[in-house]
Amino acid sequence: MTDVLWMFHRVRMGRFRLDTVHDFARRGYNLRVECRRCQRVMLANAVLLQIELGAARSKWPIERVQACLKCRGCGHRGALVTACRITCRSNFCPTSNT
Ligand SMILES: [Zn+2]
Repeated sequence: MTDVLWMFHRVRMGRFRLDTVHDFARRGYNLRVECRRCQRVMLANAVLLQIELGAARSKWPIERVQACLKCRGCGHRGALVTACRITCRSNFCPTSNT
């Protein structure tokens, strides 16, 4: 099930070219951040994250940002970032096209 959702998110990301945190904020997406070690999932508000990172780092490629993200659960540095609609209240977002 998770794999299907990942594919869904990736398709959407490809369409909108969400390459940076700045793009996520501008397009109105949250970041769905999954820890590469414990698979803990967090939703991060892109606008708040943009402020937290600062102007320079919010323009970093998302691959570079996700390598810096630290898991609040296990402390592992390194996560997987996908897109989630800002109105979505769920960790899993199959209805994000509404
Ligand atoms: Zn973790």
